[in-house]
Amino acid sequence: MTKKADEGFLGAVERYFERGARHTDCDRRLLNQVKRCNAVYETSFPVRGDDGGIEVVRGFRAEHSHHRLPTKGGIRYSADVSREEVMALAALMTFKCAIVNVPFGGAKGGVCIDPHGCSEGFRERVTRRYTAELAKKNLIGPSVDVPAPDYGTGEREMGWIADTFKALNPTQLDAFACVTGKPLSIHGIPGRREATGLGVYYGIHECTSRTEDMRALGLTPGLAGKRVIVQGLGNVGYHAAKFASEEGGALVVGIAEIEGGIYDPDGLDVEAVARHRRETGSLLDAPGAGKVLSSAETLEQECDVLIPAALENQITAENAPRIRARIVAEGANGPLDPAGEEILLERGVLVIPDIYLNAGGVTVSYFEWLKNLSHASFERMTTRYEEIASLRVLDTIERLTEKSLSADEKRALAEGPKEIDFVYSALAETMEQSYQRVHDLWKRRGLPDLRTAAFCFAINHIANSYLSQGIFP
Ligand code: NAD
Repeated sequence: MTKKADEGFLGAVERYFERGARHTDCDRRLLNQVKRCNAVYETSFPVRGDDGGIEVVRGFRAEHSHHRLPTKGGIRYSADVSREEVMALAALMTFKCAIVNVPFGGAKGGVCIDPHGCSEGFRERVTRRYTAELAKKNLIGPSVDVPAPDYGTGEREMGWIADTFKALNPTQLDAFACVTGKPLSIHGIPGRREATGLGVYYGIHECTSRTEDMRALGLTPGLAGKRVIVQGLGNVGYHAAKFASEEGGALVVGIAEIEGGIYDPDGLDVEAVARHRRETGSLLDAPGAGKVLSSAETLEQECDVLIPAALENQITAENAPRIRARIVAEGANGPLDPAGEEILLERGVLVIPDIYLNAGGVTVSYFEWLKNLSHASFERMTTRYEEIASLRVLDTIERLTEKSLSADEKRALAEGPKEIDFVYSALAETMEQSYQRVHDLWKRRGLPDLRTAAFCFAINHIANSYLSQGIFP
């Protein structure tokens, strides 16, 4: 991505902010505070390269809003990371947290390395040193700023961050709450890995369930049978495609990756394609791959729902006229630029905005943070009790009906919820409720589109938080 595109991304977020702000009653000075990035840190640090020499690595952390603490947001590893990019992403985090009502300000980190072009040892040294740099400036900690995975990072990096922070703060009881998205073995939470993609699926499911909205698009209600194209088969894209097909009954007809794309109108086997790509590094010759296209062409094929889940600025004025989807569901942050979005909206396409749709990750990160602070898993205190209570109900039903269930039937009916059940059900509830709130505002106020409604909702929420803290009497 070019420098110009980075500046465009921050500019785009600010433009979207202004579009939403126009529909609030907030004082302009308060709006300026809600809009502006509160703090940005930029650092360069030395790391031993694989050849034994010194590499100088650049890193950033932007804390967009301190209206709620800790701040929260992922860490991105990409050769193109810039100050403006992390500022834009941190701002999106603030609005995202407001929409799903998790008590954090937004933040984002970035490290300028190519995540796929370096050794594991180098990644580990960079991750540990970056964590130490943040710790030196008090930019990481359970009550200050809590990172999570983003593009180019995952559980492994979060594990290294937690371990480094713990080593620097050996007596801090809550040290493992300094980062989320950790492996289960070091106090992660089941469901965090797939949370963003699962949330994307819940969001699309909710959106496509509205008969009136679907009719306006010339579609039938429901996700089942809808043709889906996904861009990016990474954490977000893979899980969104997997749940949309396996749970939602959608037909994944196209997948675009860096090396190119594949398209089959009869549907692709997401699991088989992902496995093949993991094993060989490319999806182009995956079993049942269908037609092989360029990555860009894949986005332009016939489908009902397009899920860009790779990076920002993927749909612009250049390719928007050729996008054939009726719904564009932003799995990635900022995949549409404002000019591209304008063209899609004019053509009647429904855009489900990133600040709502990919908020599943931060929602489950919130659950992980709570679990780490409470030092107990969600199931520990309730599962056995619920089993016993259910068995009592079943026994009573058996007695009253004089019919008996088999031991297996009883066990299946009475089984108490596992931690993953709590996570999935709370995530589903959050995504449904949040959609409803934003959708209601969109329709009730006659706002031009869902993104404007989402920004309007988030800005009001944050402004009220400032006002209730007495910051702006
Ligand atoms: P990831 O690194 O796991 O996967 C990204 C995938 O996109 C990779 O497989 C990469 O090869 C592919 N890709 C890159 N450029 C591409 C291109 N031009 N065309 C097609 N594919 C391309 O990253 P991720 O965590 O899935 O993040 C993807 C997006 O979702 C980012 O915008 C990120 O900020 C956003 N997001 C991630 C999370 C999370 O929990 N991981 C949460 C919210 C938002």
